[in-house]
Order: sequence, then structure tokens, then C-alpha cells
Amino acid sequence: MQISPSTQIVNIGGFDIGGPNFTVVAGPCSIESPEQFSETAHGVKASGAHLLRGGIWKMRTSSRDFQGLGTSAFEFIKKVCKETNMSLISEVTDIRQIEEVYDLVGCFQVGSRSMQNYELLRELGKQDKPVLLKRGLAAYINEWIKASEYITKGGNPNVILCERGIRTFETATRNTLDLNAVAFAKKNSPLPVIVDPSHAVGIRALVPDLACAAAAVGADGIIVEVHPRPEEALSDGMQALTLADFSLMMKRLDKILNAIERPLHKAKI
Ligand code: PEP
Ligand code: MN
Repeated sequence: MQISPSTQIVNIGGFDIGGPNFTVVAGPCSIESPEQFSETAHGVKASGAHLLRGGIWKMRTSSRDFQGLGTSAFEFIKKVCKETNMSLISEVTDIRQIEEVYDLVGCFQVGSRSMQNYELLRELGKQDKPVLLKRGLAAYINEWIKASEYITKGGNPNVILCERGIRTFETATRNTLDLNAVAFAKKNSPLPVIVDPSHAVGIRALVPDLACAAAAVGADGIIVEVHPRPEEALSDGMQALTLADFSLMMKRLDKILNAIERPLHKAKI
């Protein structure tokens, strides 16, 4: 199978996304405590993850749910990233957070609910760090690609598109992973495209299957939620892989990626 490389290759923490190798981003939905973040980060690194994810300010459907630790988590996040020698991708929900979190992250995430927050996108267009742009949960593919141009035309070419499932008539799974969108965006946008199978399906047992499908369809990487004890998670526990699940998934992915000549990046020491 011929994988089309992206015109724009985006480097985060020493890993090229959109080039010949596949990138795995892993970590908790929310950063909850020093222990939880450290255990997750060291665990996913040991199984070959390249970059960390983790929410600091959470976009929750209910205002009564955990909203994230915010700036109080900065010190221990810095320590864990240094210990593991891994860069963090984390969501900014507001223009003011860009400056606050700048030194902590290797890449800013724009969440699904913010895809059409054009002021936020314009501000991220002025930054010299990459941006991961999630697809809105009811956005057309063309709206998603046009949203990315607010950032690239604003002066920041380092944008990665992320398909994270869309809302359809189906209710058996949390969302529906749109693999069409991955194939379409790879051919019709110069940007790398990655898949978030966790939010797309919302069910732990199905996340590895969709991660493998993403690799096979030609995605440049995945971003996946992992928690050492999902039953204790403060957000999205149903879809979090355990560290053991993650390790098994990496072995399955490795086989598929080798078959399509798209090997995983070698992890850093
Ligand atoms: C997340 O990545 O934790 C998240 C909130 O994702 P989304 O914006 O895709 O819902
Ligand atoms: Mn989540």
C-alpha cells in the first residue's frame, strides 16, 4: 500500500508527523494528580509511545464535572515531561491560556468544541509551536480543513488535523469514526492527519481495533487515552486503555505498520 506523505511535516518533541513514520501520542484524558500522570507517562513510554497527551483545562459537557487542575498542575507536569523526556500535547480552551501554558507544551490542542472558535485559531496562527486541530463533532470535512487555514494562513504552518469521531444517528458507540475523512483529508489538505480512536468509539475494548484501522487507512498517527486505573478516572474512564491494554495495542499496531511499510518512530531514550 502506498501511503501519501503530507506536504507539511510537523515536528513535535523531535518526532516528524506526516513523514515516513507513524506517531503515537498517549496519556490520560485529564491530568488528575502527580501520581496518576507520572505512572501513565512512564508506562506509555515503556511501551513505545512518542508523545504525551493530558488535559489541564477540560471542556466538559456538564459544568458540575471535573474541570481540570489548571495552573496548579504546572510544576509536576514539567517534572514528569523532563523525567520521561517527552513533549506534551494539551488543549487550550481560551486565548489567555496560550501564554500561560506556552513553556509547558510541545503542541497546542484545539478541542472538538472549539474547532470554529476563529479568534482562538487566529491567535494560534501567530504562535511558533504546532497546533493539533480536532474535527468538530458535527463539522463537515471541508469546514475542518477551512478552519485549519485560519492557523496556517495566519502564519503558523505547523498544524495537524485530528479526526475524533462525529455525531451520527448511531448511539451504540459514543461517536462514529469517519475513516472517509482521514482518506479525504490526506488527499485534499497538505497537513498530516491523525486519529483519536478513544473519543471516536468511547468503549475501551474497541479502541485498539479502531487504532489499527486508522493505521491501515493511512493516518500519520494516533492520539489515545490511557489511565493506570480507568475505573478511578475523573473523565472518560470508559474509553481509557489500561497500561496493559496499551502495550498489547502497540504490538498489534507494529505488525500492521510494518506490513504497510510505515514503521513506528523509534522511541527516544
Ligand atoms: C480530549 O482530547 O480530551 C477531548 C476533550 O477531546 P474532544 O475535543 O475531541 O472531545
Ligand atoms: Mn477525553
